[in-house]
Formats: sequence, structure tokens, C-alpha cells
Amino acid sequence: MKQRIIVLGSTGSIGRNALDVLASMSETCEVVGLAAASRAAELAAQADRFRTEAVALADGDRLPELRGAMRHGATVYSGSEALVKLVEEVACNCVLVGVVGAGGLAATMRAVELGRRVALANKETLVMAGALIMPLAARTGAKILPVDSEHSAIFQAMQAGQRTEVEAVYLTASGGPFFDWSAGEMEEATLEDALRHPTWAMGPKTTIDSATMMNKALEIVEARWLFDLSPERIKVVIHPESIIHSLVEFCDGSLMAQLSRPDMRMPIQYAITFPARRPCPARRLDLYELGQLTLLAPDAERFPALGLGHAVAARGGTAGAVMNAANEAAVTLFREGAIHFRDIARCVEQALEEHAFVPQPTLEDLWAADHWARQKVTQCVTC
Ligand code: MG
Repeated sequence: MKQRIIVLGSTGSIGRNALDVLASMSETCEVVGLAAASRAAELAAQADRFRTEAVALADGDRLPELRGAMRHGATVYSGSEALVKLVEEVACNCVLVGVVGAGGLAATMRAVELGRRVALANKETLVMAGALIMPLAARTGAKILPVDSEHSAIFQAMQAGQRTEVEAVYLTASGGPFFDWSAGEMEEATLEDALRHPTWAMGPKTTIDSATMMNKALEIVEARWLFDLSPERIKVVIHPESIIHSLVEFCDGSLMAQLSRPDMRMPIQYAITFPARRPCPARRLDLYELGQLTLLAPDAERFPALGLGHAVAARGGTAGAVMNAANEAAVTLFREGAIHFRDIARCVEQALEEHAFVPQPTLEDLWAADHWARQKVTQCVTC
């Protein structure tokens, strides 16, 4: 029987890569549901291409556009609950979560409650709610498989030993466009500078997170939950070529790494096919062309986000929700030209310092912390 797959965030960067992989796996996989935030025409075209049973569009105002463009008959969900309904009502084996930001949380939690395999590309879900989702997955038997390239690399490298034998993990970071800029130069960095990522082609939010290295801070917290690691075991190493996607150090001192070209189709496919492997449409790495690989220690002073990531991973509770929301709000302000590049990390740090910490939060506590942090960041700019 074919594996039935739902793709949430199908019109985004991860979603389009996922559909490329899934098109090459049509003999074993069937795309049964697709969901997007607002790109109605593109969603309709994707749904027609895969003849999906159902589609979900979060922006209800664009529903007529979706209905007008879609040529085959499919169940349509729309509005704020659309993604959750799609996950609840369409039977599937695997939900691929490619939604960017905190918007994917409710649907991901529902998939975990239903015991589905979750191929998780959305790091905010674990950063915000890891303390709720991981125990829930343990109860329902839902497998959460990482799609984030670094966490996929760690997950793959971990297959070489037992979890108890893991001493540390190294998250590789490209360093973004500013890894060799001075602190003074970074103060003046423009939006255009921040959007010029050297190796990965990603959406604007993730590209800016990569420039501040807030991306890596979120990934430290993500790794803490995914692999149940204490923060001091999670290290960061700058690797500008983005070929080594991360490493695991075992207790005997052996380091296991996963290498490939920077192409999201590889980790997406592995999250779907695990424990099996199959040929992937991504271009192969040619070791003879590679030349050399660079590994450098990160500069915590120029990239204060890294320290924030470790602090948040150690603290748990509502800290992840505050870091994530404050960062989303600050990135929006930076994109609007309201704050400077270096203010992004300052806003996040200030929100973390001032928030009313809850050590064992409920989902309501996490949303309250999220809303508070967004307001806090927006206020400290307007006052
Ligand atoms: Mg990553």
C-alpha cells in the first residue's frame, strides 16, 4: 500500500522541494492533502497536479480564487482551523510540516496526538512547545523526524551508535553573509545585505535568521528537545561551505558526520523514507571537486543570538516561546526598516529578560508568552 502524505505549507520553499521529492516517489507515496497560507492559485495548481483528496487554505478571503482555479474535485478547508481539520479528517501516514513560524503549531500537535509520523521542517514548533510535544509523542507513539538539515544530519549520524553513547553534537552554521564582518560593519548592515545568503536558497525570514545566527539559536533549542540533550552537549561550528550538515561525537571520540550538497530534498526524503534510503533527485556531491572544507569557532560577541539559544535551551518553560516570538516580531520590524540589524538580537534579549517566566507551561501559557513577546518588541520600538 502506498504511504499517504499531507504537506502543510506546500507553496513555501520546503513545500515545493517536498513536492519535487514526492513526484519522484509516486510508486510508493501518494500526496493526499496540501495546505497553504494564502497563495491560492499555486495551491490549486499543486492540488491538480497530484490530484489530492483535500486542500486547506488558511486565508479564507482567497477561497473564491482557490475554487475558481482548481480543476479537480477536492474537499476544501479554509480559515484559521483549516490546517488542523485537514490533519484530522484526511487519513494519512505522514504529515510533512513546512509551514514557517508559529502558525504550524496547532496542526503539528494534532498530528502528534493522532500518532502520525511527523516530518518536521518547522523549528518554531519545538522551540515554542517542545516541553509539550515530546512527551505527547512518547504517549501516542508519533515519530517526529527532523527535516531541518542539521537535525537530519544528527539523526542520520546517530544511527551509528546508541543514544547513551552520544557525548556531544555539533550543529554546523554557514555563518550567513556576515560571518567575516566586524561588529561595526554589522551595525550598518542593510536588509539587502542580510538577504544575501552564501549557500542556501531559503525564504526571507529564515535567511535573516541565518544572518543573525538566531537560526542556530532556534536549532540549539530544537536539538535539545528532539534528541533530549542537555545544552552543554550542543555545540556550534562555523562551516561556510554548507557541505557537512552536522556531526555527532560518540563517547569513544569518534565523530560521525553527514555530507551532501546543500539541498533540502535530501533531508525531506529521508524523513519520509526512514529507515530506508532510496535514490534522491538532489545533485550528488563530487568529492574530487570539493577542494577544502573550513571549520571555525563561532564568535559569541558578534553573534549574541548563540548565547541566547543556549540560555533558552537550559531554561525551558516559556523561554522558547518568548525567544521565537520576539525574534519573529523583530525580523518583521527590520524588514520594514524600523530597526537596525543588530537590534534584532537586542530585542530578543530584552524580551527574555523581562518576561514572566513559567517553568511548566500549558499551551495557553505558551500562546500568552508568544503574544506578550510580540507586543513587547513592537512597543520598545514605537516608544
Ligand atoms: Mg537548519
